[in-house]
Amino acid sequence: MAPRKVLIVEDEAPIRQMIAFNLSRAGFDVEQVADCSAARSRIADTPPDLVLVDWMLPDASGLELTRALRRDEASRSLPVIMLTARAAESDKVIGLESGADDYITKPFSGRELVARVNAVLRRAAGAEAGSLEIGELRLDPVSHRVHAGPAEVALGPTEYRLLKFLMENQERVFSRGQLLDKVWGRNVYVEERTVDVHVRRLRQALEPFAADRHVQTVRGAGYRLSAG
Ligand code: CA
Repeated sequence: MAPRKVLIVEDEAPIRQMIAFNLSRAGFDVEQVADCSAARSRIADTPPDLVLVDWMLPDASGLELTRALRRDEASRSLPVIMLTARAAESDKVIGLESGADDYITKPFSGRELVARVNAVLRRAAGAEAGSLEIGELRLDPVSHRVHAGPAEVALGPTEYRLLKFLMENQERVFSRGQLLDKVWGRNVYVEERTVDVHVRRLRQALEPFAADRHVQTVRGAGYRLSAG
């Protein structure tokens, strides 16, 4: 297999070189740029397999670059890891909402960097193999695992099936009766309020990751999974 190409977008040369050194030693094909506009033209010319983007860059922020990449059809699914000196939780949420796949807080070790890059590339390969995504949530039907950004979400079997069905049918509203048919099966006798119980459990499991907002109640109609 050809070496995987990683583009580093970082204006501080010593950090950029440290990253490049560690990734090259781990077998990656490394390219380096120092600002967002150089990054965008490089990505358009020769798309990398992953981009490491520093938060603070001279011409625009790493967040803006990530959002721009997500808006563009050609780079929509390009894996992005954000580098930042800010560790506050709110920053992490903003970063994940911008579409970054993961976060690395400075200072970090070469070993941690390589491990995170490999993990994100593995997840991206999983996405190509049919995993389901909404916002920062990703469900891998092969391993039955659900992740919110880099963190694994612990779900009971019913919540997993419910989430999987809703992820396969995003933005559609389902009544409780329809969800019973689709998720529990037509021949199982359960009351409609059972659906509410499991929706509540699903939201509780997603809440620590601020992902419960995707599970929406549509008054008088039922439930919907929505990116908005
Ligand atoms: Ca910087």
